[in-house]
Amino acid sequence: MNILVLNCGSSSLKFQIIHTDLDLIDKDADVQKAKGLIERIGSQSLVTLQADGRPPLKVAAPLRDHKSALDYVVRWMVSPEAQIPGIRSLADIHAVGHRVVHGAEKFTRSVIISDEVIDGIEDCIDLAPLHNPANLKGIYAARELFGVGVPQVAVFDTSFHSTMPETSYLYAIPYQLYRRHKIRRYGFHGTSHRYVSYRYRQITGKDREQIKIVTLHLGNGCSACAITGGESFDTSMGLSPLEGLVMGTRGGDLDPAVLEFLVHKEGMSMSELDAMLNKQSGLIGLSGLTNDMRDLLEEEREHHDRRAALAIAIFVQRVKKYLGAYLAEMNGADALVFTGGIGENSSTIRERVCDGLDWLGIKLDPKTNADLPRGTEGVVHAADSRVHIHVIPTNEELLIARDTVRCVKDAPRRW
Ligand code: AMP
Repeated sequence: MNILVLNCGSSSLKFQIIHTDLDLIDKDADVQKAKGLIERIGSQSLVTLQADGRPPLKVAAPLRDHKSALDYVVRWMVSPEAQIPGIRSLADIHAVGHRVVHGAEKFTRSVIISDEVIDGIEDCIDLAPLHNPANLKGIYAARELFGVGVPQVAVFDTSFHSTMPETSYLYAIPYQLYRRHKIRRYGFHGTSHRYVSYRYRQITGKDREQIKIVTLHLGNGCSACAITGGESFDTSMGLSPLEGLVMGTRGGDLDPAVLEFLVHKEGMSMSELDAMLNKQSGLIGLSGLTNDMRDLLEEEREHHDRRAALAIAIFVQRVKKYLGAYLAEMNGADALVFTGGIGENSSTIRERVCDGLDWLGIKLDPKTNADLPRGTEGVVHAADSRVHIHVIPTNEELLIARDTVRCVKDAPRRW
């Protein structure tokens, strides 16, 4: 089956076309046929389209909404210039898989999208006002374009964490607030944590039940996950993706009293607080320079920028803090897994995170770590490290495509 995987943000649309099926999943023989990104939907949009094995095509086009953006992608996809093998008309797309950020307690696994599911995703908007409306735009656009004959599947960022026990997911606030409004920790990046734990299982040949690891998704958004028995036991993001680690533009953990203080001292409104927490904090807030870890590392090295160095140090210390907490919660772990743009590409950050943790049985091999080519899979621990250290590039799109096939074929979801 050819699966169109869609990940819609408020003004962006990312897609991939992946050829997969139940037997291809078993053989790990899925094929990525094309991918692309449309940014700045609503004005002069920037479009990047790439068929597998061919150079990317970059163009600007006035695309007023997600429907026009998807329309543009589909027209390119079926055009002779794209030359995507096996894709000649709309009928060659057999199903659409959507990334949906928040599924709350309602969606604990991926599901075929029906009217009822759409209502359910709408009900979660209160919990994810920045993300779910954008995901819904993608769903509506795909429905309109492909019609009801093409099944669509929703894959939720939160569902992998639905196995967390109450002791991990409840906030210590009045219990009635959980009852009344479902205020609790949900966790995000579930598709990424699930994918890398699946790859870890493949690499090590372990059974799912034997898996006890800490996965560190370090990208522009960052989260850690304690996985035991193959299931999420605890994770660093909470009701929203604001909690936990330091990220590109989000600061992670914060005493809630800071917000009231800012309302009084600076007269900040809710929307200003929201912008501060989501867009002006984290690496960019601390450094005053950039949310990009690559640039910060450069500034620190080349220009000895004190605040760049501080931002990196706080980022690293927070990762260590969560790592220590998860090792304590799980009575140790067999491995750490680094993933995400920073985790996959930055040997420096991996080294700094693992530095001084030998008493926990975590010993990185500096040379193997530094020599690992960027964005590739590998093991980077020293021979005598009790806890193994893996680098596994994430592939959320592949998991979305595979879940889509499994839902459409009504096959059990194993990972
Ligand atoms: P993601 O959100 O997973 O795409 O990750 C984006 C983050 O990865 C950005 O902060 C990038 O600066 C960071 N990144 C990518 N390559 C490198 C690298 N070689 N060294 C450090 N950070 C990197």
